[in-house]
Amino acid sequence: MSFQFSNRVPKSDSDPVGDILKVAGSPDIISFAGGLPAPELFPVEALKQAADKVFDKNGRSALQYASAIGNPDLRNQITQRMNRQGINCDVDNIMITTGSQQSIDLTAKMFVNPGDTVIVEKPTYLCALDVFKSYGAHIVGVEMDDDGMKMADLQQAVADNPNTKFIYTIPNFQNPTGRTMTAERRQQMVEIANKADIMIMEDDPYGAIRFAGDDIEPVKYYDTEDRVIYLSTFSKILAPGLRLGWMVMNKDLMPKYSLMKQSADVHSDNLTQYIVAQFMADNDIDDHISKIRNVYRQREKVMMAAIEKSFPAGVHYSHPQGGLFIWVEVPGDIDTIELFKTCVGHNVAFVPGEPFYPDKVTPGTFRLNFSNMSEDQIKVGIKRLGDAIKETIGV
Ligand code: PMP
Repeated sequence: MSFQFSNRVPKSDSDPVGDILKVAGSPDIISFAGGLPAPELFPVEALKQAADKVFDKNGRSALQYASAIGNPDLRNQITQRMNRQGINCDVDNIMITTGSQQSIDLTAKMFVNPGDTVIVEKPTYLCALDVFKSYGAHIVGVEMDDDGMKMADLQQAVADNPNTKFIYTIPNFQNPTGRTMTAERRQQMVEIANKADIMIMEDDPYGAIRFAGDDIEPVKYYDTEDRVIYLSTFSKILAPGLRLGWMVMNKDLMPKYSLMKQSADVHSDNLTQYIVAQFMADNDIDDHISKIRNVYRQREKVMMAAIEKSFPAGVHYSHPQGGLFIWVEVPGDIDTIELFKTCVGHNVAFVPGEPFYPDKVTPGTFRLNFSNMSEDQIKVGIKRLGDAIKETIGV
């Protein structure tokens, strides 16, 4: 049997990042590789109580088919949160999705024909790159600095690519760099998009997990023409296994998104939506988020101190004020896939930079996660990593 795959399917079965995560998952290894939240913070008991209540009160409706755009109570709760975060919207702007990954997929499906340009930060979230590739997008990466995407480069990329459909940005504590875009650049990005009449997909899974500095209004706050599609998720503020996210969009888009959502999965898990809505009615989710922030603040601090102590001079790293990741840049032409292998020999792991780049890879780069390991593991793991880097660059 020869399978006649569509152009959307990757040519090869290889899954280099999956392989890295598999190696990193072995019990002897201290892994800073995955983007996993701390499971000890999942509010298991409160979610269990919410689930019991749903089964008692609304069992039949929760187990029935439901609307594609999502549970009205949950959409209402999200609307209030969004309003508090500076996003001017009402419930008719909100659609529930099966995690932000689906929001990215639906948006690419909605707007990208093969050959259309999607502009991204360089580096960026690798599973978004996979989605854009699957729809045949021409992906253009724009350089970043510590303040996010460089606006002059964005302007140039937009001018060079008149077939651009949207800019994809992760403005807060970006995956993989941990960097945050300044308010000024957010406003400039909207101005550039307005002028070129293109959309912005603002992917914000980490914004609520700020543990230092002041909140910055979302890109959508500066959106004067309702062209920003804002995405967020319960994955990092509650639990990723729930598979629930949401989109805030121009109301005119809602009927088409609803049709696309129906053909993708009819609707997101109705029972889970009921449970999360009940959880939010009975608990202050912001209290819960502040617990997450406190733990991640401490883990990031411990990781930073260990890095300062153990990494050789000349290694650069980002200083995130939230989220889950630190981005490391080792000087010289280091192949971080080779460095990864050395690290595995030292029983420590990270994700090499390569898969996060849409095109030319910056050598010597890799991503560290600080949310998923204990403070003691962080101290030991970073010491091992420092030793492996020294061994590789020969100091
Ligand atoms: N966008 C970014 C930037 C992410 O880092 C992730 C998950 N790590 C997602 C989207 C997908 O999240 P979800 O679990 O909501 O599908």
